[in-house]
Amino acid sequence: MFVGHYSVAFAAKGERDKIPLWILFVAVQFLDYIWATLVLLGIEKLRVIKGFTAGSMLDSYFHPYSHSLPTALIWSAVAAVGYKPLCKWLGYAWTTSAALVIAAAVFSHWILDLVAHPGDLALYDNTWKVGFGLWRYRDPEFALEIALLAIGITLYLVRNVMPPIRKAAVIAFGLGLVVVQIGDTYVPRTPLTDKATVLGVWIFYTLFVAIAFVVEKIGSRRQSSPL
Ligand SMILES: [Zn+2]
Repeated sequence: MFVGHYSVAFAAKGERDKIPLWILFVAVQFLDYIWATLVLLGIEKLRVIKGFTAGSMLDSYFHPYSHSLPTALIWSAVAAVGYKPLCKWLGYAWTTSAALVIAAAVFSHWILDLVAHPGDLALYDNTWKVGFGLWRYRDPEFALEIALLAIGITLYLVRNVMPPIRKAAVIAFGLGLVVVQIGDTYVPRTPLTDKATVLGVWIFYTLFVAIAFVVEKIGSRRQSSPL
């Protein structure tokens, strides 16, 4: 699962909690940020094998700290607790319900990975591995990613008040993510090393976070200008 994770970030944004979209973008990929970091540190293990599954080259044979069920729950709780000091630091409004939304957004990553991953998600430690393996079926997996993203963006546009220019920017961002997913699923490429792969994960995910930040600024000056 790749851009499909962002469907949850878009869908979770609402007028009540007003969680910044960029924070939700970090939340839904929080487990992968931990995973990429631990692979870079040599603690978690990854093999990148061409044709490992039809839709992905990643053989994540050891990632119990970022992607097992118990640690996913722990990281969700950590993110929910950490959201309060983060809001304080950045000057954002904080609510209990927002913290719960953050926890759910972080945990959604595991649920969506469960659909796509080929039996590499441990239910305990590094054993009892599960995964429905939709990555073995390239077109259905791609279709699911895009369908989820479309639903998430639609909910975002319906649930939030924004100027038309930002609506257009959100749709353009969504189309950009579709292009990225097309590239990831269908454009053949030679496998990078494990370290280069997760470095790419860090860079791309952070680029999307930055775009999410900028998108929510678009048109805000006009909206909040004094009468
Ligand atoms: Zn993941």
